Amino acid sequence: MVIKIHTLGFPRMGAQRELKFALERHWKGETDAATLEQVGRDLRARHWALQRDAGLDFVTVGDFAYYDHVANHVQLFGCEPARFGFDGTEPALARYFTMARGVASEHVHGDGCGCGAGPEGGTHALEMTKWFDTNYHYLVPEFHPETAFRLASARLLDEVAEARALGHTVKPVLLGPLSFLWLGKEKVAGFDRLDLLDTLLPVYNELLAQLAAAGVEWVQVDEPILGLDLPGAWALAFERAYHALKTAKVSLLLATYFSPLEDHISLACKLPVAGLHVDAVRAGRELQAVLDWLPAHKQLSVGIVDGRNIWRTDLDRAFDQLRPALERRGGNLWIAPSCSLLHVPLSLAQDPSLDAELRSWLAGATEKLAELNVIRHALRDGEGEVRKALFAARAAVAARAHSSRVKNPAVAQRIAALPADADRRPQAFPERQALQRRRFQLPDYPTTTIGSFPQTAEIRAARAAFKRKALDEGAYRDAMKREIAHAVAKQEELDIDVLVHGEAERNDMVEYFGEQLEGFAFTGNGWVQSYGSRCVKPPVLFGDVSRPNAMTVEWTAYAQGLTKRPMKGMLTGPITILQWSFVRDDQPRADTALQIALAIRDEVVDLETAGIGIIQIDEPAIREGLPLRRAQWQAYLKWAARAFRVSASGVGDATQIHTHMCYSEFNDILPEIAAMDADVITIETSRSDMELLRGFGDFKYPNEIGPGVYDIHSPRVPSADEMLRLMKKAGSVIPPANLWVNPDCGLKTRGWPETEAALRNMVTAAKQLRAG
Ligand code: GLN
Ligand code: ZN
Repeated sequence: MVIKIHTLGFPRMGAQRELKFALERHWKGETDAATLEQVGRDLRARHWALQRDAGLDFVTVGDFAYYDHVANHVQLFGCEPARFGFDGTEPALARYFTMARGVASEHVHGDGCGCGAGPEGGTHALEMTKWFDTNYHYLVPEFHPETAFRLASARLLDEVAEARALGHTVKPVLLGPLSFLWLGKEKVAGFDRLDLLDTLLPVYNELLAQLAAAGVEWVQVDEPILGLDLPGAWALAFERAYHALKTAKVSLLLATYFSPLEDHISLACKLPVAGLHVDAVRAGRELQAVLDWLPAHKQLSVGIVDGRNIWRTDLDRAFDQLRPALERRGGNLWIAPSCSLLHVPLSLAQDPSLDAELRSWLAGATEKLAELNVIRHALRDGEGEVRKALFAARAAVAARAHSSRVKNPAVAQRIAALPADADRRPQAFPERQALQRRRFQLPDYPTTTIGSFPQTAEIRAARAAFKRKALDEGAYRDAMKREIAHAVAKQEELDIDVLVHGEAERNDMVEYFGEQLEGFAFTGNGWVQSYGSRCVKPPVLFGDVSRPNAMTVEWTAYAQGLTKRPMKGMLTGPITILQWSFVRDDQPRADTALQIALAIRDEVVDLETAGIGIIQIDEPAIREGLPLRRAQWQAYLKWAARAFRVSASGVGDATQIHTHMCYSEFNDILPEIAAMDADVITIETSRSDMELLRGFGDFKYPNEIGPGVYDIHSPRVPSADEMLRLMKKAGSVIPPANLWVNPDCGLKTRGWPETEAALRNMVTAAKQLRAG
């Protein structure tokens, strides 16, 4: 019996986020490239040692990146976009960071300053977008008809040599040619990036030859796009591409993950490669079909440990899946996490913020490697070999399954008794709109903001002092109230119509609520890379969700008490909380979403009772939750929209419910956004110059809309004229009577001076609109 264990990739940042801090020091100019490279080398060495010590048969090389692995491939294949104007004398790492982060302009741009740069000046970075359905963002390669490829970077080969010098057996990982092209973007209309395939393949062959010469036996080639709905030409191109790579003197392990292969199963099984990795967590039901289709001479790798979530593996369930596979494959099997471990924290075993019981239910990347080793031992040598480890694993899984911390009968009872119309407002939108207009007497084109005001250094310092107990609760609350009073006074002075309290007391829009809800836990060090040096620490949603106490009422009511204008209550919606947390794997996501929705509903009702007439429930992440396969979209959107409506429908018709969305493509889910039935949606649009709104117009979006009139990512202050022009454009596709005027998103990353100036211009633009 030959069972090998490996991983598709490993977290990069280090146990103490060493890479993050080293990058940020380097970017500030405090350290040179050599210092940064040394940190990278140390981290790689440490992470390879972890893999070897866990008994892995290979260490994975090529998953490390100083910013993003897709950007690594841009340099590897020599296709840095010409627009950056590199002359080849700049060091590779400097070019890499220029592509990743852009170049700030050296002079202040004005309208028509004629320098040819964008409105913010300088050279903008490669666009960044989400890596499949994860919260990791990659840099988007840019393709032109004249894009040429060549083997231009020795980084991968150097890292292979580095690992071999440390005595490791190496399995390099590459993004496959089709996924690499797919994830990029054409920068010229009428050109198809798939046309570049034939010029790209020889470079892959050259690279594979060099890897073979470097002593590499197996190369993992990631083609996650096999789990997507692909246009026919792309699916067809797989055979051509892998036939071209067939002559390579290395064995290729084609890796698929994140999504069932469905119509691509037979394609994936018959491509001329030496092995296939499948995701048995997301696509467990396909394993049987893969066993039927995959020729006996090919190596099968089964991704059995969840690479996307932090739960300890149920080993007995894993054995049930693996034993038949082992039998069918004649005792020859590779076992791995389902996907790269990039998406989970490095380790949770010693996490300082989790209690021992909770910790025992969880597994970070390091613990997942250990699980692979236990699985192999149990399958190959019998359970006696690893009796203690199995006992601990089984005990933890059983404890979690039966824990009273997980199940709350009151939550189950409430859901069972939920009336069928719990997701409906009493009356339809037109009736509600009439009531709300009478109640609030707002002018046409009412102005508002999205929720947060600048999180100043003083706010952050107060929060930090409170957390380390240098500031007592009373003093902290007073400090926050002063911030709220300041934000309210500013908004009155600016003559904004619907005010917000400014969210000074929130560090993060999910964490703030998670900390006050039952069913959530927070790690002290469970960092996951989001992009570049940015890491997030997603909450762990481990149990039934309920809301023991009001979460925002005191702050909001305090703010309302300071003004006669309507104060908008500000909540995070159930889908966004779900999407930005590590969630339970022991019940469907839809069920968890409904539980969160009920907790938010309680808060909405309490806000109404406290006299708050306008309540915003943010759902910026609604689109991120879309399944990768379109056939599953409708089912998701149906339960997601229902969860939102459940959260919003506990109030009377004169209470106005807002929602907010941003930074996603919304046009293909407009009916479902409309089905959420918010009275008002504020939505980011200014980056696309209101193009997004065309869809809302064509679809005849029925309720009120506040299209963002300025981008909050830049300190630039847009002129009133500019915003007026955007609003007029919006008014040509949306009935002007339904329009609100607001920024694109929250203002927490901005400073006060530009915030005030921009909002002043925004209010001026609204007044000009009203004047006609
Ligand atoms: N209310 C939040 C804020 O203003 C919304 C943030 C978001 O959309 N991501 O900060
Ligand atoms: Zn937003």
